[in-house]
Amino acid sequence: MGACSVAPVIVVLAGGVGAARFLRGLLAVTAPGEVTVVGNTGDDITLHGLRVCPDLDTVTYTLGNGIHEEQGWGRADETYRVATELALYGAPTWFRLGDRDLGTHLFRRTLLDDGMPLSEVTRRIAERWRLPVTLLPMTDDPVETRVVAGGREMHFQEYWVGLHAALPVDRVWLAGDCTPAPGVLDAIANADTILLPPSNPVVSIGTILAVPGIRSTIERANAPVVGVSPVIGGAPVRGMADRMLAAIGVDCTAAAVAKHYGAALLDGWLVDDVDAAAVPEVEAAGIACRAVPLWMNDAESTAAIAKAALALAR
Ligand code: GDP
Ligand code: CA
Repeated sequence: MGACSVAPVIVVLAGGVGAARFLRGLLAVTAPGEVTVVGNTGDDITLHGLRVCPDLDTVTYTLGNGIHEEQGWGRADETYRVATELALYGAPTWFRLGDRDLGTHLFRRTLLDDGMPLSEVTRRIAERWRLPVTLLPMTDDPVETRVVAGGREMHFQEYWVGLHAALPVDRVWLAGDCTPAPGVLDAIANADTILLPPSNPVVSIGTILAVPGIRSTIERANAPVVGVSPVIGGAPVRGMADRMLAAIGVDCTAAAVAKHYGAALLDGWLVDDVDAAAVPEVEAAGIACRAVPLWMNDAESTAAIAKAALALAR
């Protein structure tokens, strides 16, 4: 339009595997440098003295082409020699760290011990991987998602990875005081478009929105906010997100997730073709809604989802 030729800014709130796949599609339909990712750190956990950031690293390895493609997380060509040694010492084995992956965690530990904030550490890691996005952790403060399941309180990772989400969750929350990492609120306030990828609404997007200031800044931002349903045909796609939705009393349907986010947050919502009947219900809640194929099966189908989200935002 005007003389101003500043590239548009797209802010994406990201969990792990679902977000990383979506981001690949988004990068295929946007210009370099347009995308800023605010990553979930509620999954972060200290293991063997190392700070593990599963969601930040899933985004990094995926966009840096170092991801284990079939698995969706962890490094390609991974080995577990160190984990095997640790197991022989009787160290806990429910969360195995691969040898290549350990390189990232050792590097992160060293910089954190030097007093560097997580956001700067994340920038250094992103540099190595030549990430085509700006990746910001939601907060520099050490927070963690906790759950109560089977009468016991534990770290979300212990529930998800250790127990394979085998029990119903009675309570889930983000523990620890925190403020948004530097750059997060500015990115949101100045965004032209804000996207919620098909990430877990509770323990990925939910935790990011739980950082004081983030939700209110998104609600006040001028940018349209468009989300992609992680639920197709009443089931989470590849995963156990239904457990977490049940924990907060939200039905596992595309419409219920949209209404959970609410019209104050969301301007638009994409549901899968099989959920086309949910479109009027979502629109009645004040959220523009379209039904398109939402399976991120390959580069083309994922790019088409990103394109549909951007089109709805416009
Ligand atoms: P996590 O942190 O690794 O669990 O990853 P995210 O929170 O980013 O994403 C997990 C969510 O992605 C799950 O709830 C799935 O329902 C959703 N998901 C995974 N694959 C697909 C897909 O192909 N299409 C859609 N619409 N959602 C997907
Ligand atoms: Ca995660």
